[in-house]
Amino acid sequence: MPRYDYRCRTCDSTFELSRPMAEANDPATCPCGHDDTVKLLSSVAVTGRASGPSGGGGGGCCGGGCCARG
Ligand SMILES: [Zn+2]
Repeated sequence: MPRYDYRCRTCDSTFELSRPMAEANDPATCPCGHDDTVKLLSSVAVTGRASGPSGGGGGGCCGGGCCARG
């Protein structure tokens, strides 16, 4: 179950709740009992990322010795 961060505007504290995605935008109640809360954007992004070949190809001329002054 994903967790969402909320901030209470009454006591200015942040808290997090575990709730279904379907209820992510439902009003949350602060642990202190306040209901004037806003949902914060979570920094946790669950996205599918295709893993591919990475890494820059080198092979520059200057990597070797051909650029050396001679
Ligand atoms: Zn509060």
